[in-house]
Amino acid sequence: MYKEIDLIIKPRYLDEYKDGYPLISKESITSWDKIKNEGTIINLLDNKRKFIAKGYHGIQNKGFGWILTTSKTEKIDLLHFKNKISDAVKYRRDFYSDNSTTAFRVLNGEGDNLGGLTVDYFDGFYLLTWYSLGIYQFKEEILEALKSQVEYKGIYQKRRFDTKGQYLEGDNDFVCGEKAPAPLIVKENNENFAIYLDDGPMVGVFLDQREVRKTIRDKYANGKTVLNTFSYTGAFSIFAACGGAKKTTSVDLANRSRPKTKEQFEINNINIEEQEIIVQDVFDYFNFAVKKGFKFDMVVVDPPSFARSKKRTFSVAKDYVKLLKEIIQITNKDGIIVASTNSANFGMVTFRDFIAKAFKESHKKYKIEESFSLPKDFKVIDEFREGSYLKVVFIRKLS
Ligand code: SAH
Repeated sequence: MYKEIDLIIKPRYLDEYKDGYPLISKESITSWDKIKNEGTIINLLDNKRKFIAKGYHGIQNKGFGWILTTSKTEKIDLLHFKNKISDAVKYRRDFYSDNSTTAFRVLNGEGDNLGGLTVDYFDGFYLLTWYSLGIYQFKEEILEALKSQVEYKGIYQKRRFDTKGQYLEGDNDFVCGEKAPAPLIVKENNENFAIYLDDGPMVGVFLDQREVRKTIRDKYANGKTVLNTFSYTGAFSIFAACGGAKKTTSVDLANRSRPKTKEQFEINNINIEEQEIIVQDVFDYFNFAVKKGFKFDMVVVDPPSFARSKKRTFSVAKDYVKLLKEIIQITNKDGIIVASTNSANFGMVTFRDFIAKAFKESHKKYKIEESFSLPKDFKVIDEFREGSYLKVVFIRKLS
Protein backbone atom coordinates (compact mmCIF):
# COMPACT_ATOMS: atom_id res chain seq x y z
CA MET A 1 0.00 0.00 0.00
CA TYR A 2 1.25 3.48 -0.89
CA LYS A 3 1.86 5.44 2.27
CA GLU A 4 3.54 8.70 3.18
CA ILE A 5 4.82 9.64 6.61
CA ASP A 6 5.06 13.18 7.96
CA LEU A 7 8.26 14.36 9.61
CA ILE A 8 8.94 17.74 11.18
CA ILE A 9 12.02 19.73 10.18
CA LYS A 10 13.94 21.28 13.04
CA PRO A 11 13.46 25.07 12.74
CA ARG A 12 17.08 25.94 12.15
CA TYR A 13 17.20 23.66 9.07
CA LEU A 14 13.97 24.96 7.55
CA ASP A 15 15.50 27.63 5.31
CA GLU A 16 17.88 25.12 3.74
CA TYR A 17 15.00 22.96 2.55
CA LYS A 18 12.99 25.98 1.46
CA ASP A 19 15.97 27.03 -0.66
CA GLY A 20 15.93 23.69 -2.44
CA TYR A 21 18.67 21.76 -0.67
CA PRO A 22 17.97 18.18 -1.84
CA LEU A 23 19.71 16.08 0.80
CA ILE A 24 17.75 15.06 3.89
CA SER A 25 20.22 15.07 6.76
CA LYS A 26 19.83 12.97 9.85
CA GLU A 27 20.20 15.90 12.20
CA SER A 28 17.58 18.09 10.53
CA ILE A 29 14.64 15.87 11.48
CA THR A 30 13.18 15.32 14.94
CA SER A 31 11.55 11.91 14.78
CA TRP A 32 13.28 9.35 12.60
CA ASP A 33 11.86 6.67 14.90
CA LYS A 34 8.53 7.05 13.05
CA ILE A 35 10.19 5.44 10.04
CA LYS A 36 10.76 1.70 9.99
CA ASN A 37 12.05 1.01 6.51
CA GLU A 38 14.30 2.54 3.92
CA GLY A 39 12.31 3.54 0.89
CA THR A 40 9.52 5.10 2.97
CA ILE A 41 8.13 8.26 1.39
CA ILE A 42 8.35 11.22 3.73
CA ASN A 43 6.67 14.58 3.76
CA LEU A 44 8.82 17.21 5.40
CA LEU A 45 6.75 19.76 7.32
CA ASP A 46 7.63 22.88 9.24
CA ASN A 47 6.74 23.01 12.92
CA LYS A 48 3.32 24.43 12.06
CA ARG A 49 2.80 21.31 9.92
CA LYS A 50 2.98 23.22 6.66
CA PHE A 51 4.21 21.07 3.76
CA ILE A 52 7.75 21.88 2.54
CA ALA A 53 8.95 18.96 0.42
CA LYS A 54 8.58 15.24 -0.28
CA GLY A 55 11.34 12.68 -0.44
CA TYR A 56 12.37 9.18 0.51
CA HIS A 57 14.37 7.67 3.33
CA GLY A 58 17.62 6.00 2.23
CA ILE A 59 20.81 5.79 4.22
CA GLN A 60 24.04 6.50 2.37
CA ASN A 61 27.28 8.24 3.19
CA LYS A 62 25.74 11.55 2.20
CA GLY A 63 22.68 11.48 4.45
CA PHE A 64 19.36 9.94 5.33
CA GLY A 65 17.41 10.51 2.14
CA TRP A 66 16.74 12.78 -0.82
CA ILE A 67 13.99 15.25 -1.71
CA LEU A 68 12.10 14.20 -4.83
CA THR A 69 9.51 16.95 -5.24
CA THR A 70 8.16 20.13 -3.72
CA SER A 71 4.63 19.32 -4.85
CA LYS A 72 2.40 18.19 -2.02
CA THR A 73 0.07 16.23 -4.26
CA GLU A 74 2.63 14.47 -6.43
CA LYS A 75 2.80 10.71 -5.93
CA ILE A 76 6.15 8.96 -6.07
CA ASP A 77 5.10 6.39 -8.62
CA LEU A 78 5.85 5.14 -12.12
CA LEU A 79 4.80 8.43 -13.69
CA HIS A 80 7.04 10.38 -11.35
CA PHE A 81 10.09 8.35 -12.41
CA LYS A 82 9.07 8.40 -16.08
CA ASN A 83 9.02 12.19 -16.03
CA LYS A 84 12.43 12.40 -14.37
CA ILE A 85 14.04 9.94 -16.75
CA SER A 86 12.41 11.59 -19.73
CA ASP A 87 13.82 14.99 -18.68
CA ALA A 88 17.24 13.45 -18.10
CA VAL A 89 17.29 11.74 -21.50
CA LYS A 90 16.21 14.95 -23.25
CA TYR A 91 19.01 16.87 -21.56
CA ARG A 92 21.54 14.38 -23.06
CA ARG A 93 20.08 14.49 -26.58
CA ASP A 94 23.37 15.72 -28.07
CA PHE A 95 25.22 12.82 -26.51
CA TYR A 96 22.81 10.27 -27.97
CA SER A 97 23.27 11.68 -31.45
CA ASP A 98 27.07 11.95 -31.31
CA ASN A 99 28.60 8.85 -32.91
CA SER A 100 32.12 9.68 -31.77
CA THR A 101 31.18 9.20 -28.09
CA THR A 102 29.05 6.22 -27.08
CA ALA A 103 29.48 6.30 -23.30
CA PHE A 104 28.03 8.99 -21.06
CA ARG A 105 25.93 9.62 -17.97
CA VAL A 106 22.17 9.70 -18.55
CA LEU A 107 21.03 10.52 -15.04
CA ASN A 108 23.20 12.05 -12.36
CA GLY A 109 21.46 11.58 -9.02
CA GLU A 110 20.34 14.79 -7.34
CA GLY A 111 21.59 16.77 -10.38
CA ASP A 112 18.58 15.24 -12.15
CA ASN A 113 16.35 15.47 -9.06
CA LEU A 114 16.77 11.79 -8.26
CA GLY A 115 19.35 11.52 -5.50
CA GLY A 116 20.77 8.07 -4.78
CA LEU A 117 20.75 6.77 -8.35
CA THR A 118 22.98 7.22 -11.37
CA VAL A 119 22.38 5.82 -14.85
CA ASP A 120 25.18 5.47 -17.39
CA TYR A 121 24.98 4.59 -21.07
CA PHE A 122 27.47 2.29 -22.78
CA ASP A 123 26.68 1.84 -26.46
CA GLY A 124 23.12 0.61 -26.07
CA PHE A 125 23.56 -0.84 -22.59
CA TYR A 126 22.47 0.90 -19.40
CA LEU A 127 24.12 0.70 -16.00
CA LEU A 128 22.15 1.73 -12.91
CA THR A 129 24.04 2.37 -9.70
CA TRP A 130 21.90 2.31 -6.55
CA TYR A 131 23.44 4.16 -3.62
CA SER A 132 21.05 3.00 -0.88
CA LEU A 133 18.60 0.30 0.00
CA GLY A 134 16.04 3.12 0.08
CA ILE A 135 16.24 4.01 -3.60
CA TYR A 136 16.50 0.30 -4.44
CA GLN A 137 12.95 -0.14 -3.10
CA PHE A 138 11.80 1.71 -6.23
CA LYS A 139 13.71 -0.62 -8.55
CA GLU A 140 10.66 -1.99 -10.33
CA GLU A 141 9.12 1.40 -11.07
CA ILE A 142 12.44 2.92 -12.07
CA LEU A 143 13.29 0.04 -14.41
CA GLU A 144 9.87 0.21 -16.00
CA ALA A 145 10.20 3.97 -16.36
CA LEU A 146 13.62 3.61 -17.99
CA LYS A 147 12.44 0.93 -20.38
CA SER A 148 9.55 3.13 -21.47
CA GLN A 149 11.82 6.07 -22.25
CA VAL A 150 14.85 4.55 -24.03
CA GLU A 151 15.80 1.83 -26.45
CA TYR A 152 18.19 -0.58 -24.82
CA LYS A 153 20.08 -3.74 -25.56
CA GLY A 154 20.56 -4.72 -21.94
CA ILE A 155 20.47 -3.32 -18.41
CA TYR A 156 23.03 -3.82 -15.64
CA GLN A 157 23.24 -2.57 -12.06
CA LYS A 158 25.69 -1.95 -9.23
CA ARG A 159 24.47 -1.91 -5.66
CA ARG A 160 26.53 0.32 -3.41
CA PHE A 161 24.37 0.28 -0.34
CA ASP A 162 26.46 0.61 2.74
CA THR A 163 27.28 3.98 4.18
CA LYS A 164 30.75 4.05 2.63
CA GLY A 165 29.33 3.45 -0.85
CA GLN A 166 30.96 0.02 -0.86
CA TYR A 167 29.99 -2.30 -3.68
CA LEU A 168 28.23 -5.52 -2.68
CA GLU A 169 30.83 -8.11 -3.68
CA GLY A 170 29.68 -11.25 -5.39
CA ASP A 171 26.70 -9.51 -6.88
CA ASN A 172 25.33 -10.55 -10.21
CA ASP A 173 25.07 -7.25 -12.04
CA PHE A 174 23.01 -8.33 -15.03
CA VAL A 175 19.37 -7.23 -14.82
CA CYS A 176 17.59 -7.83 -18.13
CA GLY A 177 17.72 -7.75 -21.91
CA GLU A 178 20.73 -8.97 -23.83
CA LYS A 179 24.02 -9.64 -22.08
CA ALA A 180 26.81 -7.28 -23.07
CA PRO A 181 29.98 -8.67 -24.59
CA ALA A 182 32.96 -8.65 -22.24
CA PRO A 183 34.60 -6.43 -23.12
CA LEU A 184 32.05 -4.09 -24.58
CA ILE A 185 33.94 -1.63 -26.77
CA VAL A 186 32.67 1.94 -26.50
CA LYS A 187 33.93 5.12 -28.12
CA GLU A 188 34.99 8.34 -26.50
CA ASN A 189 35.83 11.11 -28.93
CA ASN A 190 36.71 8.42 -31.46
CA GLU A 191 39.06 6.43 -29.22
CA ASN A 192 38.09 3.03 -27.83
CA PHE A 193 37.53 1.82 -24.28
CA ALA A 194 37.01 -1.76 -23.14
CA ILE A 195 34.12 -1.87 -20.66
CA TYR A 196 33.21 -4.77 -18.39
CA LEU A 197 29.69 -4.30 -17.05
CA ASP A 198 29.72 -7.40 -14.85
CA ASP A 199 33.18 -7.56 -13.33
CA GLY A 200 33.12 -5.91 -9.91
CA PRO A 201 32.48 -2.36 -8.84
CA MET A 202 34.30 -0.50 -11.61
CA VAL A 203 33.65 -0.92 -15.33
CA GLY A 204 36.98 0.27 -16.74
CA VAL A 205 36.68 4.01 -17.24
CA PHE A 206 35.59 7.10 -15.34
CA LEU A 207 33.36 9.00 -17.72
CA ASP A 208 33.63 12.30 -15.85
CA GLN A 209 37.20 12.87 -17.16
CA ARG A 210 36.15 12.89 -20.82
CA GLU A 211 36.95 16.54 -21.48
CA VAL A 212 40.27 16.30 -19.67
CA ARG A 213 41.33 13.31 -21.77
CA LYS A 214 40.33 15.12 -24.97
CA THR A 215 42.28 18.20 -23.93
CA ILE A 216 45.37 16.13 -23.19
CA ARG A 217 45.12 14.47 -26.59
CA ASP A 218 44.31 17.56 -28.64
CA LYS A 219 46.40 20.26 -26.98
CA TYR A 220 49.21 18.93 -24.84
CA ALA A 221 50.44 15.41 -25.64
CA ASN A 222 52.14 15.67 -29.02
CA GLY A 223 55.81 14.72 -28.83
CA LYS A 224 55.77 14.62 -25.03
CA THR A 225 56.90 12.09 -22.46
CA VAL A 226 53.92 11.45 -20.20
CA LEU A 227 53.74 9.95 -16.71
CA ASN A 228 50.27 8.84 -15.63
CA THR A 229 50.10 8.16 -11.89
CA PHE A 230 47.21 6.25 -10.23
CA SER A 231 46.58 5.14 -13.79
CA TYR A 232 43.88 2.42 -13.24
CA THR A 233 43.19 1.19 -16.81
CA GLY A 234 45.42 3.86 -18.34
CA ALA A 235 42.67 6.02 -19.83
CA PHE A 236 44.80 9.19 -19.72
CA SER A 237 47.75 7.29 -21.23
CA ILE A 238 45.57 6.13 -24.14
CA PHE A 239 44.55 9.69 -24.97
CA ALA A 240 48.11 10.94 -24.58
CA ALA A 241 49.37 8.23 -26.94
CA CYS A 242 46.56 8.97 -29.41
CA GLY A 243 47.61 12.62 -29.27
CA GLY A 244 51.13 11.72 -30.36
CA ALA A 245 52.97 11.37 -27.05
CA LYS A 246 56.55 10.18 -27.48
CA LYS A 247 56.11 7.70 -24.65
CA THR A 248 53.66 7.04 -21.81
CA THR A 249 54.43 5.55 -18.41
CA SER A 250 51.46 4.34 -16.36
CA VAL A 251 51.87 3.62 -12.65
CA ASP A 252 49.27 1.92 -10.46
CA LEU A 253 49.46 -0.28 -7.40
CA ALA A 254 46.84 -2.80 -8.51
CA ASN A 255 48.02 -5.90 -10.35
CA ARG A 256 44.98 -5.76 -12.62
CA SER A 257 46.15 -2.43 -14.02
CA ARG A 258 48.78 -4.10 -16.23
CA PRO A 259 46.51 -6.38 -18.31
CA LYS A 260 43.73 -3.75 -18.29
CA THR A 261 46.01 -0.99 -19.55
CA LYS A 262 47.58 -3.30 -22.13
CA GLU A 263 44.12 -4.15 -23.42
CA GLN A 264 43.17 -0.47 -23.75
CA PHE A 265 46.33 0.20 -25.80
CA GLU A 266 45.68 -2.81 -28.01
CA ILE A 267 42.10 -1.91 -28.87
CA ASN A 268 43.36 1.52 -29.92
CA ASN A 269 46.11 0.05 -32.12
CA ILE A 270 48.85 1.68 -30.11
CA ASN A 271 52.22 -0.02 -30.19
CA ILE A 272 52.57 -1.37 -26.68
CA GLU A 273 56.36 -1.70 -26.98
CA GLU A 274 56.66 2.05 -26.72
CA GLN A 275 54.55 2.28 -23.57
CA GLU A 276 55.57 1.43 -20.04
CA ILE A 277 53.15 -0.03 -17.50
CA ILE A 278 54.44 -0.23 -13.93
CA VAL A 279 52.68 -1.94 -11.04
CA GLN A 280 53.98 -0.08 -8.00
CA ASP A 281 53.04 2.29 -5.20
CA VAL A 282 53.38 5.76 -6.76
CA PHE A 283 55.34 7.05 -3.78
CA ASP A 284 57.93 4.30 -4.26
CA TYR A 285 57.98 5.10 -7.95
CA PHE A 286 58.68 8.79 -7.17
CA ASN A 287 61.69 7.81 -5.03
CA PHE A 288 62.95 5.59 -7.83
CA ALA A 289 62.40 8.26 -10.50
CA VAL A 290 64.18 10.94 -8.47
CA LYS A 291 67.12 8.62 -7.80
CA LYS A 292 67.39 7.80 -11.50
CA GLY A 293 66.98 11.44 -12.51
CA PHE A 294 63.88 10.79 -14.62
CA LYS A 295 61.97 13.83 -15.85
CA PHE A 296 58.71 14.03 -17.77
CA ASP A 297 57.11 16.67 -20.02
CA MET A 298 53.68 15.91 -18.62
CA VAL A 299 52.53 14.25 -15.40
CA VAL A 300 48.91 13.33 -14.73
CA VAL A 301 47.84 12.80 -11.13
CA ASP A 302 44.31 11.67 -10.36
CA PRO A 303 44.38 9.79 -7.05
CA PRO A 304 41.49 8.21 -5.19
CA SER A 305 40.20 10.45 -2.37
CA PHE A 306 41.34 7.87 0.10
CA ALA A 307 43.49 4.77 -0.29
CA ARG A 308 45.00 2.29 2.07
CA SER A 309 47.89 0.12 0.92
CA LYS A 310 50.06 -2.25 2.92
CA LYS A 311 52.57 0.49 3.54
CA ARG A 312 50.57 3.68 3.96
CA THR A 313 47.24 5.39 3.91
CA PHE A 314 46.74 8.26 1.55
CA SER A 315 44.10 10.94 1.87
CA VAL A 316 43.77 13.65 -0.73
CA ALA A 317 42.93 16.38 1.77
CA LYS A 318 45.99 15.58 3.89
CA ASP A 319 48.53 14.47 1.29
CA TYR A 320 47.92 16.35 -1.97
CA VAL A 321 50.61 18.96 -1.33
CA LYS A 322 53.17 16.25 -0.66
CA LEU A 323 52.09 14.43 -3.78
CA LEU A 324 52.47 17.56 -5.91
CA LYS A 325 55.91 18.30 -4.45
CA GLU A 326 57.09 14.86 -5.54
CA ILE A 327 55.69 15.47 -9.01
CA ILE A 328 57.22 18.94 -9.32
CA GLN A 329 60.63 17.30 -8.85
CA ILE A 330 60.22 15.01 -11.83
CA THR A 331 58.51 17.44 -14.22
CA ASN A 332 60.60 19.24 -16.83
CA LYS A 333 60.71 23.03 -16.94
CA ASP A 334 57.81 24.17 -19.14
CA GLY A 335 56.20 20.81 -18.53
CA ILE A 336 52.54 20.32 -17.63
CA ILE A 337 51.11 18.82 -14.48
CA VAL A 338 47.49 17.73 -14.76
CA ALA A 339 46.32 17.76 -11.15
CA SER A 340 42.95 16.19 -10.50
CA THR A 341 40.79 15.31 -7.52
CA ASN A 342 37.31 13.93 -7.11
CA SER A 343 37.11 14.79 -3.44
CA ALA A 344 33.83 16.49 -2.52
CA ASN A 345 35.29 17.59 0.82
CA PHE A 346 36.95 20.73 -0.52
CA GLY A 347 36.40 23.11 -3.42
CA MET A 348 38.46 24.69 -6.18
CA VAL A 349 39.77 27.46 -3.94
CA THR A 350 41.31 25.01 -1.50
CA PHE A 351 42.62 22.89 -4.36
CA ARG A 352 44.37 25.92 -5.86
CA ASP A 353 45.80 26.65 -2.41
CA PHE A 354 47.31 23.16 -2.36
CA ILE A 355 48.93 23.86 -5.72
CA ALA A 356 50.26 27.24 -4.58
CA LYS A 357 51.66 25.72 -1.39
CA ALA A 358 53.38 22.85 -3.20
CA PHE A 359 55.12 25.20 -5.64
CA LYS A 360 56.06 27.67 -2.92
CA GLU A 361 57.62 24.95 -0.78
CA SER A 362 59.44 23.63 -3.87
CA HIS A 363 60.72 27.17 -4.66
CA LYS A 364 59.33 26.89 -8.18
CA LYS A 365 57.05 29.06 -10.27
CA TYR A 366 53.97 27.99 -12.17
CA LYS A 367 51.12 29.17 -14.31
CA ILE A 368 47.62 27.75 -14.49
CA GLU A 369 46.74 27.06 -18.12
CA GLU A 370 43.15 25.89 -17.71
CA SER A 371 40.84 24.06 -15.36
CA PHE A 372 37.89 21.70 -15.58
CA SER A 373 34.95 20.56 -13.51
CA LEU A 374 32.28 17.98 -14.36
CA PRO A 375 31.14 17.68 -17.98
CA LYS A 376 27.59 18.51 -19.04
CA ASP A 377 26.20 14.98 -18.73
CA PHE A 378 27.22 14.94 -15.05
CA LYS A 379 24.52 17.49 -14.32
CA VAL A 380 24.78 19.38 -11.05
CA ILE A 381 22.45 21.86 -9.36
CA ASP A 382 23.36 25.11 -7.62
CA GLU A 383 21.45 24.02 -4.52
CA PHE A 384 23.88 21.15 -3.98
CA ARG A 385 27.41 22.41 -4.53
CA GLU A 386 28.94 19.25 -3.07
CA GLY A 387 27.65 17.46 -6.16
CA SER A 388 30.25 19.26 -8.24
CA TYR A 389 33.14 17.18 -6.93
CA LEU A 390 35.59 17.10 -9.84
CA LYS A 391 38.45 19.59 -10.01
CA VAL A 392 41.19 19.36 -12.63
CA VAL A 393 43.90 21.96 -13.17
CA PHE A 394 46.47 22.08 -15.99
CA ILE A 395 49.57 23.65 -14.45
CA ARG A 396 52.65 24.74 -16.37
CA LYS A 397 55.87 24.51 -14.41
CA LEU A 398 57.73 27.70 -15.28
CA SER A 399 61.02 27.25 -13.41
N1 SAH B 1 43.19 8.15 -12.90
C1 SAH B 1 42.39 6.98 -13.18
C2 SAH B 1 41.47 6.61 -12.05
C3 SAH B 1 42.17 6.37 -10.76
S1 SAH B 1 41.29 5.27 -9.75
C4 SAH B 1 41.61 7.18 -14.46
O1 SAH B 1 41.50 8.29 -14.94
O2 SAH B 1 41.08 6.21 -14.98
C5 SAH B 1 42.43 5.11 -8.45
C6 SAH B 1 43.55 4.16 -8.76
O3 SAH B 1 44.59 4.43 -7.80
C7 SAH B 1 43.19 2.70 -8.57
O4 SAH B 1 43.44 2.02 -9.79
C8 SAH B 1 44.13 2.20 -7.46
O5 SAH B 1 44.64 0.92 -7.70
C9 SAH B 1 45.24 3.23 -7.50
N2 SAH B 1 46.02 3.44 -6.28
C10 SAH B 1 45.57 3.66 -5.04
N3 SAH B 1 46.60 3.90 -4.19
C11 SAH B 1 47.73 3.85 -4.94
C12 SAH B 1 49.12 4.02 -4.66
N4 SAH B 1 49.54 4.30 -3.44
N5 SAH B 1 49.98 3.91 -5.67
C13 SAH B 1 49.56 3.63 -6.94
N6 SAH B 1 48.27 3.46 -7.25
C14 SAH B 1 47.36 3.56 -6.28
